[in-house]
Amino acid sequence: MIRPILRYGAEALHCPAVGVGALNDTVQTLIDDMIDTMYAAAGVGLAAPQVGVGLRLFVADPSSGRDGSQLRVVINPELVEADGAQREEEGCLSLPGFTGHVPRSARVVATGLDREGSSVRIEGEGLLARVLQHEMDHLDGGLFVDRLSGIRRDLIIRRVRKLQRTGKW
Ligand SMILES: [Zn+2]
Repeated sequence: MIRPILRYGAEALHCPAVGVGALNDTVQTLIDDMIDTMYAAAGVGLAAPQVGVGLRLFVADPSSGRDGSQLRVVINPELVEADGAQREEEGCLSLPGFTGHVPRSARVVATGLDREGSSVRIEGEGLLARVLQHEMDHLDGGLFVDRLSGIRRDLIIRRVRKLQRTGKW
């Protein structure tokens, strides 16, 4: 089931998520819904706070559904390695219509659990590395705009506020 994606300004997006306990039916349904929602929005990643659930879990697929083998579900993820640097354009399903060049590590390793509760270790470079870092930020209550320079960040936030005021957000 596709769930509504919260937009910048919604409280759940701006506070840290808490660890997932039991991988029960509620969590499994949430994961299924997050995958449906990510693909319906043509996204490459979606974190639980974006659908209003303050749990540390995200789904990611750099191929955006073109290659099913690239789908990852990561529960209680941690970034255990990060090196190098890249600065590419990023967007976010919670900030539709806005992008920015975000400084990120070039390569990261994330660990966590898959939906069966088995340990996973994901090594990513390029786009996958950016997605992993972007989704980790969501779990800590951050969005990509928070990592932009002051001028670019202020510009985006001013435009969002204007859309909010006029009921278009
Ligand atoms: Zn995002």
